[in-house]
Amino acid sequence: MSTAPYGPVRARVLGVDRLSPSFIRITFGGPDMARVGARTAVFDQRIKLIFPSPCAELPAIAGSGDWYNDWLALPEGSRGAMRTYSIRFLEMDDHSTELTVDFVLHMEPGLSGPAANWAAAAGVGDEILIVAPLRGAESAGGIEFDRGSAESIVLAGDETAAPAIARILEDLHGETVSGAAFIEVPTAADILDIDAPAGVDVRWLPRSGAAHGEALTPAVLSHLGTRLDDAPVPAADTADGLLWETPHFSGAGESIVPDTTLSGAYYWIAGESGVVTRLRRALVRDHGLHRSQVAFMGYWKLGVAMRG
Ligand SMILES: Cc1cc2nc3c(=O)[nH]c(=O)nc-3n(C[C@H](O)[C@H](O)[C@H](O)COP(=O)(O)OP(=O)(O)OC[C@H]3O[C@@H](n4cnc5c(N)ncnc54)[C@H](O)[C@@H]3O)c2cc1C
Repeated sequence: MSTAPYGPVRARVLGVDRLSPSFIRITFGGPDMARVGARTAVFDQRIKLIFPSPCAELPAIAGSGDWYNDWLALPEGSRGAMRTYSIRFLEMDDHSTELTVDFVLHMEPGLSGPAANWAAAAGVGDEILIVAPLRGAESAGGIEFDRGSAESIVLAGDETAAPAIARILEDLHGETVSGAAFIEVPTAADILDIDAPAGVDVRWLPRSGAAHGEALTPAVLSHLGTRLDDAPVPAADTADGLLWETPHFSGAGESIVPDTTLSGAYYWIAGESGVVTRLRRALVRDHGLHRSQVAFMGYWKLGVAMRG
């Protein structure tokens, strides 16, 4: 019998570490978590976290084999909130699994949400559900980083993408790779250690009170020798959904003809959707990068609460 690729598992907080003003690192484990595992490098593997509603039990998701529809079928009041995160560390032995997530604490009034609020108050023993790849599954999906044969990479993102960028770089250790990683964070105190391959130059870009993207965008464009024009973001790119345009998938429904003859660097760009949209326009439309060389991913959107 084949193993389902993903499953909601009960995860207990084993440790909480306030890394910096904007990051809190939470490690999850417990008996049910032993079902989680990965066969390959984790890279930017996305996972879903389901937080209980305040003062409520964890949602009891039926086991029909379709966890998402089982979750949706629960009454709204007992369903809790689901959000997407990245795996910072995944450690497994034969009998147990520990999974670590770095949460951004965006706590300003009106700009917070159930995930950040839960993380800020989390203590050892607290429980959530995690939907993550299960041990033994053939292929779970949910990894976008795919540099193909490119030996040069450019990774760019804000603080929500920092955990994925860190994981990608640490998983590339020992491989022939060069390039740069640009990571915009709220303050200089949010700069964290990443064990990156020697050939990749990691540049942390503290925003220090400026708007999202003000540090990241010029740094990426100057790396490419180009600049942003002043035109506003086109209306089609500012709809409520998150931008998701990768070499293999178009959230906007564009037809994709993968170009396997491409040479040159591979680009991976994630963060606030409006910032990523402007970078996409500059890189693909103005600078002429082929879309097969770049993954653009809106991880969150200013002023919009996610729905999972
Ligand atoms: C593939 C993927 C991987 C991700 N990995 C991570 C990760 O490892 N760590 C991480 O912290 N986030 C990560 N995110 C982003 C995270 O899912 C969003 O930030 C999410 O909105 C947080 O949920 P919330 O309940 O705290 O806020 P929501 O209820 O979704 O939003 C409430 C309000 O908070 C604002 N908001 C949301 N995020 C931020 C932010 N970072 N800064 C300022 N305001 C914000 C929204 O615009 C909205 O106004 C990832 C997203 C994706 C798609």
